[in-house]
Amino acid sequence: MKLQQGWLTDIRQVPSPHFNQRPSDESPSLLVIHNISLPPGEFGGPWIDRLFTGTLPPDAHPYFADIAHLQVAAHCLIRRDGEIVQYVSFDDRAWHAGVSCYQGRENCNDFSIGIELEGTDELPYTDAQYQALAAVTQLLLQHYPITPSRITGHSDIAPTRKSDPGPAFDWPHYQQLLAQTSF
Ligand SMILES: [Zn+2]
Repeated sequence: MKLQQGWLTDIRQVPSPHFNQRPSDESPSLLVIHNISLPPGEFGGPWIDRLFTGTLPPDAHPYFADIAHLQVAAHCLIRRDGEIVQYVSFDDRAWHAGVSCYQGRENCNDFSIGIELEGTDELPYTDAQYQALAAVTQLLLQHYPITPSRITGHSDIAPTRKSDPGPAFDWPHYQQLLAQTSF
């Protein structure tokens, strides 16, 4: 796996329209970890791709009616089996964080990369997910002005609105993998 024009190679690319240019072509300096599952608590299925590409059918599940209109996408998704899907070039501004603030600076989408883990706040993430997340993170650390101390959770930058990646996300384990692995 490599990076070319902000896209990971050798993974599944599903281009989303839910992005625009970063202001002044700013280089991303923050990594935001999220979780998502659609419907909530269910894994597999095409619905995350459909939401992030603006094609979620509102009537396919009762939960979808409320979210189908949202124009959202993360840069990447890591599925339960470790599969990596990319929706937006890391060089572009994906619409993942919403109203947010990191160390006094608002609008984190301007200067961050968003990675979703397929999961819930309470259920442990899989080893395959940690391995894939560490591999992607290593590439990002090499290519962008992100440092290990500038990796945060969605709940940290939008604490009144968001709880992901939740208590299930094992930050020490992730940091240990980052310290050990090099790709
Ligand atoms: Zn989130």
